[in-house]
Amino acid sequence: MIWYPYTQMKTMPEPIKVEKADGVFLYTGKGRLIDSVSSWWSAIHGYNHPVLNAAVTRQLEKFAHVMLGGLTHDPVLELTEKLADWLPGDLDYCFYSDSGSVAVEVALKMALQYNVNRGSGRNTVLALKNAYHGDTFKAMEVGDDEDYHFAFPTKRGVIHIPTKVDALQAAFDAHGDELYCMIVEPLLQGAGGMKMYGEEFLHRARALCDKHDVLLIFDEVATGFGRTGNRFVADKVLPDILVLGKALTGGYIGHAVTVANRRVYNGFYGDDPRLGFMHGPTFMGNALACGVALASIKLFEEQTYTDKIRRIEEIQQEELSGLVDERIKEVRVAGGCACIEVYDPAVLKGFADYAVSRGVFNRPFGNIMYAAVPYVIQEEQLRTVLGVMKEWFLRG
Ligand SMILES: *Cc1c(COP(=O)(O)O)cnc(C)c1O
Repeated sequence: MIWYPYTQMKTMPEPIKVEKADGVFLYTGKGRLIDSVSSWWSAIHGYNHPVLNAAVTRQLEKFAHVMLGGLTHDPVLELTEKLADWLPGDLDYCFYSDSGSVAVEVALKMALQYNVNRGSGRNTVLALKNAYHGDTFKAMEVGDDEDYHFAFPTKRGVIHIPTKVDALQAAFDAHGDELYCMIVEPLLQGAGGMKMYGEEFLHRARALCDKHDVLLIFDEVATGFGRTGNRFVADKVLPDILVLGKALTGGYIGHAVTVANRRVYNGFYGDDPRLGFMHGPTFMGNALACGVALASIKLFEEQTYTDKIRRIEEIQQEELSGLVDERIKEVRVAGGCACIEVYDPAVLKGFADYAVSRGVFNRPFGNIMYAAVPYVIQEEQLRTVLGVMKEWFLRG
């Protein structure tokens, strides 16, 4: 028996079986569907991509995986060199893991031990209301999402603030010297309700973290690789630790990376073994994952994806900006992401089935209907996706 995610098994609708996937399409028992959520934001180049397939096959002929303890290999060396080169500032030190949640745990452990290593007793994390950072324990604690985590209410050593500059200032005034880090999903909070906020908040956060000697962590597991219209939000405001996942491997293999700057890295560097970072997922730096991640980044660069994303954003604005309905609270668009927030989650009941009947796979959550399409989507396919979302409200 498969135990499916985020669901009551007793009332779960039958999952749609995928036979084949190619480009933006899932070929299923219910026909050919445009995937409007890119397999949880990861499949940015679409499915069955020849370049990514070749990267996996090429590496598979050599070996699939070797441990990173005591061993290393070309795919992980090359990906690391690329990331160090490609990512802004001195975000150069890559710690790999198998999922976004673990990569967030790694970032938080890194920040805490960085402070322990320098003899500091700081014990508090500053985080955001409506945050989602994954489903493991510390990730849940820094998260703030009742729908996911209501059964696990403890929030030890975490302060949650709204994305407002005055709340930020107040938190630092009161707790600045207790904080070992601040963690945010920059500009766009995904699973916590697709909330968007301005860059000014991040600039203030950076300044206050500097003033109070607090590490700033960007969880760009969802926002990274262009989703907000920026390549990375870290291009605009530089964090001390950057977490990437989801689209890192173009949706091929679960993998993530926690990238630290030189200051953080140096906090662990020395002759004393006890200063070292004690973490090591079995499958960290998996050779297939690193090989396909490198190929994915090259595609992203060569094919000017930021232009593609800008075009997606324009079309989303065009299609959705005029949408007014008494059931709709707000329509929000940022980069490769569009969202319709309704007042009452019941309004979205039945939408997933309706979308399938119109050739689109979509998966609303709570009171949020959204699209995070593969960047390779054609204009008319995108208009189909957005059209189906609109029709749900317009057809009466
Ligand atoms: C999805 C997500 C995670 C968790 O990643 P997994 O690979 O599912 O563990 C963490 N942070 C953010 C912002 C995410 O969107």
